[in-house]
This record gives sequence, structure tokens and C-alpha cells, in this order.
Amino acid sequence: MTDVYNFCAGPAMLPAQVMKKAQKELLNWDGLGTSVMEVSHRSSEFKKLAKQADQDLRELMSIPDNYHVLFMHGGGRAQFAAVVNNFLGSNGKALYLTSGQWSQAAAEEAIRLVGPKGVDTIDVTKNEVEPVVKSISIPDFNNMNDEYRYLHFCPNETVDGIEIFDDISSPWPIVADMSSNILSRQIDVSRYAVIYAGAQKNIGPSGLSIVIIRNDMLKLPKLPQASIFNYQMQVESGSMYNTPPTFAWYLAAEVFKWLKQNGGVAQIEENNYKKAELLYDCIDNSNLYVNDVAIENRSWMNVTFKLTKGTLETEFIEQAKNKGLVALKGHRLVGGMRASIYNAMPVKGVQALTKFMVEFEESNT
Ligand code: PMP
Repeated sequence: MTDVYNFCAGPAMLPAQVMKKAQKELLNWDGLGTSVMEVSHRSSEFKKLAKQADQDLRELMSIPDNYHVLFMHGGGRAQFAAVVNNFLGSNGKALYLTSGQWSQAAAEEAIRLVGPKGVDTIDVTKNEVEPVVKSISIPDFNNMNDEYRYLHFCPNETVDGIEIFDDISSPWPIVADMSSNILSRQIDVSRYAVIYAGAQKNIGPSGLSIVIIRNDMLKLPKLPQASIFNYQMQVESGSMYNTPPTFAWYLAAEVFKWLKQNGGVAQIEENNYKKAELLYDCIDNSNLYVNDVAIENRSWMNVTFKLTKGTLETEFIEQAKNKGLVALKGHRLVGGMRASIYNAMPVKGVQALTKFMVEFEESNT
């Protein structure tokens, strides 16, 4: 069978090495003669795993000691609501920057929960009309006198293929949805009050969310909410107020080990840069493929492109699939193509894709 490279935006491919290890120890984890799925989350063995995962993530991201790391249920969208419920009690107000589908969805959820009076939004996209180029322009917040509990933004828009690389400075605590770029490049965690991410791109299986939260944020007034999403309660219980998604947690722990064994975030950042460069170069050097994002905001994780001959798109997807290059269809809301090239995608996967793209163009001109 030819190698299959999976470009799905999420659930995304996981490192082959991790999957093989999980397969090997599926029925006998840690010498217990049972699967990790069948072990109590309060057993000493699972607690050891949880402690190691916490330590490894802290090391990988250089998370300062005044931050807690939570492993929770519900993926990215659960945190859209949890953030609001944990920080906007007593008529609090938040500012949401919108830059694409996911930041827009986060803002809509906030408005649904606290009403339009509790949420201000700023559209930070700047769309030039001819030729269409999507870019981001972050305003200077220092002249604003508003009292916001937090500023929310999404540094990588998975659907639109837009990434914000510049550090945002804000007089208010920054909450970032890093679902699709966490661990992809080095960041300074201390610039953020909260970082959250659904796991299914760079961490593990869907359903798990990782929340990195600075101590002082726990003191903000809360709204009434489900206890399982109460950050204070989850901190106090070591993310075990309810039964956590243990198998997803185990796989996340294995992904952290894999990252550490492979040079950590600094090394993966180099690979990710290389992969994105290969793919964007291929697009820019062709007459068939176009990407409409300004160079400085082109995502390293989700590379979107359209075919100038739109009628060839179905054929492109079909032929790619026959070569083992799967899940290249763009999001249903924007169409076109999308190659998601998260941490687990090897450079040779992107090389196989660009080779196919060049050949496809040659045979269709
Ligand atoms: N935020 C971003 C940036 C995402 O890409 C996604 C999912 N693709 C979500 C939030 C929602 O995550 P979930 O489906 O796990 O709720």
C-alpha cells in the first residue's frame, strides 16, 4: 500500500510513532494487564501519567509556575462558553477580535451567553478587493479607556488559513484560542492570561481541551455554570472533578513525549516553517493554484488555495486521493482546498503533495 498522508484539519493525523506505541500497549498498559482506558483516573498509575503530562507540557511551552494546566472535556467550543462563564460574572465585559470563522464563532457564543452589552467586537481583517488579499491589522489598544475583563483572539484561523504571528499587546488580560497552532512554534506564555486548545490537531484525539490559565484569572467573578467547566473547581481537583477523558489524556501525554524526543517546540517550529514554505512556494510558482492571504498572515498550519480553473477541483481531489494524499477539500463554508500540515505531518508528506500539484498542473495546461 502507498503511504497515506492525511491533510485533515481535525481530527488530524497523529504521529505514527505514538499510534504504534498506543497499539502495542492497548491491552496491557504500564504492565497492568489492562488497557489505560480501563484504569481508574485516581489510580497511582494514572496519576503518574497525569503528572508527567503536566510536566512535559510545562517544559515544552516553558509555562511559568503561576499558571495551571487543565485537561478538560469538550474540545474548543466548550472553552468558548467556559471562558465567558468563568470571567464575565457581575456584568463583566469582554473584547473579541474577529479575524475569521472561529474567532467569530467564539464571539457569537459570548454574545449568546451574556448579550451584546457584555461583548464588544473588532474586525481586525483588512480585505483588499483587487486582487483579494486577506490580512490582519491589530489596532493600538493603549488609547482605549474601556474596562474589559479580557481580550479574546484566535491566532490561527483554521478555516481561513490566516495566522497572527505578531504578539498582541493589550491593557487587558489576553485569552487565546490556540486550537490549531498550539505547540507549532515557540511563544511567550507569560504574554497570555489564558491559552486554550481543542486537542484534535497538535495534541491528540478530539473531545479533550487543554487550558493554561494564570492564577489571578481564577479570582474573576463567575456566572452560574456547570461545575465541570468551573476552572477553580478543576484546578482544585487536578482536572478530576469529573472523570476526565483518560484515553485522550494518555495519547496527549504520548504526543508530548514524542515532541520532547524530537527536539521540542524549537525543532518542530523549524519543520513547520519548512513545510509551509514548500507549499506556499509551490502555489506562488504556479498559474493554477492561488492563495489569497497576505504573506505575513499565511498560516503555517492550514494552507488554503483555490484552483484558477475551478472546474478541475473535483478532479484534483480525486487524483490526489489516488496518490494517498487525502482530506484536501476546503471547509464547506469557504470551498477550495485546504492542506492542514500540523506537527505530525512529516516534511516528506508535503513534498509528496507539492510533487503531485506540479504534475497535476503540467497535465492540465
Ligand atoms: N477553535 C478553532 C481555532 C478550531 O479550529 C476549532 C475546530 N476546528 C474550534 C475552535 C472548535 O473545536 P471543537 O470542534 O473541538 O469544539
